[in-house]
Amino acid sequence: MKTLPMFLGGEWVQAVEGGTRAILNPANNEPIAQVAEASVADAEIAIRHARKAFDSGPWPKMRAQERAAHLSRLADLIDANADALATLETRNNGKPLREAKFDVGDAANCFRYYAGLVTKPLGQTFETPDANMQTMVVREPIGVCGQIIPWNYPLLMAAWKLAPGLAAGNCCILKPAEATPLTAMRLFEWIAEAGFPPGSAQLLTGAGATAGQALADSPLVDKIAFTGGTATGRKIIAAASGNIKKVTLELGGKSPCIIFADADLDVALEFAMFAIFAGQGEVCSAGSRLILDRKLAANFLPQLAAASRKIVVGDGLLPDTEMGPLITRAHMERVLSYIEIGKAEGAQLLCGGNRLSDPPHAEGNFVAPTIFAETRPDMRIVREEIFGPVQCVQLFDTEDEAVNLANDTDYGLAGGVFTRDGAKGLRVLKRLRAGITWLNSYHPTFNEAPWGGYKQSGWGRELGTWGLDEYLETKQINISLAPQRPDWFRSAANARVV
Ligand code: NDP
Repeated sequence: MKTLPMFLGGEWVQAVEGGTRAILNPANNEPIAQVAEASVADAEIAIRHARKAFDSGPWPKMRAQERAAHLSRLADLIDANADALATLETRNNGKPLREAKFDVGDAANCFRYYAGLVTKPLGQTFETPDANMQTMVVREPIGVCGQIIPWNYPLLMAAWKLAPGLAAGNCCILKPAEATPLTAMRLFEWIAEAGFPPGSAQLLTGAGATAGQALADSPLVDKIAFTGGTATGRKIIAAASGNIKKVTLELGGKSPCIIFADADLDVALEFAMFAIFAGQGEVCSAGSRLILDRKLAANFLPQLAAASRKIVVGDGLLPDTEMGPLITRAHMERVLSYIEIGKAEGAQLLCGGNRLSDPPHAEGNFVAPTIFAETRPDMRIVREEIFGPVQCVQLFDTEDEAVNLANDTDYGLAGGVFTRDGAKGLRVLKRLRAGITWLNSYHPTFNEAPWGGYKQSGWGRELGTWGLDEYLETKQINISLAPQRPDWFRSAANARVV
């Protein structure tokens, strides 16, 4: 199997130390590719290219309209190759093909959205109390940006990082997760084809502990944008303190899906499943805590468990599959260990709770959709991010109790509320300490709207105008309209420059 190279300094190159990594299909753990594995030396090469491209290359100086044209060309190339790209995403990540297709469309739209946004007015002019002074504010790129992304949305996270970063004129180094580099590699073929200047966009394939850490440590990198686990987020913050890098973090969650007794229960039931089992539960905003009106428990929970048992789990490429495999054996073992913790803590298993190891599933990383009832707020399965198809039910009697349970978490990424009472719905959403919320829905999100969390779910926002802001510095320029001496130093009063 030939080793797929990285894209550094405008060229496809192998790792300097010759490192390689086998990429596996999580549906059967068979190798589907071999890719170059960066070491610290490769990260340093990427950083030097990016530094040169930012300090003296054309990309940051280019007109916004011209940068936008590059992004639009890239979006067209994604669209033109959408089916093949979605298939590749499913083979590498495992998610059902219909989800991968959705991600591909969303990724193309993200590049188009930022191509449009960056050509709109970004600065300001305004009057100050000094009539002789005109002040303007201009926005400028930050510099070299390291962008470290996870394995759950490999293509979409690449788009969420590269689109605003490049639109703003930064030189970006993307480090995909070591398990899922394949769609990013395809994306960079089109970045080359779309004519991005050397060093403006680079792909560094390698492990987080080496290549990712080198980006976070480097004094030549001006910003790190990271999506991943909270523990890694802490390491990035520590490393970034060296040169006070700008840092944005999109971390985990333990998000509530609150269902009141007056909800449309058929709608609520399917959303309760969709909230946790879409993307195999490997979704930062997953509704992993079902906060349910106690009056509903006796009827709702058996129906929820019965419907969840019927979810078709399998290879994401098969047309009937509704939920795919987990990303790696190691991650599957981690999720299964949380299920054992839940049982040991005394929670009641309503459905699932096991690995699927019958013949079609035997070689893959499949876990049955799992729901725990009879939980307590102090249980580890209620407090910690499991990042798999495991939902915990918590019961409430009053609106206040629902809100308190929902907010009783270190995280604050997302939350959904189901009720037919619009005033109550808005009241509860406003009390949620979370950045992304829904009324009578769960999961839809838009390139136009800010994505990010309160509390330990992160720093800053992606997407929308907020996402572009995170890639721009803000400079004030003050222009004297009537230059005159400041009359400050007596010794300079009679000074004349001849
Ligand atoms: P990580 O946070 O380790 O991975 C996210 C990215 O960070 C990957 O590209 C990874 O590299 C990289 N990385 C790892 N260590 C470092 C480091 N020291 N410096 C710089 N970059 C680094 O997540 P895991 O894959 O280990 O998953 C652990 C848990 O994190 C999950 O179970 C889940 O709870 C949470 N998570 C949350 C995500 C989210 O969307 N918020 C996404 C993924 C995980 P590589 O993987 O290549 O080694």
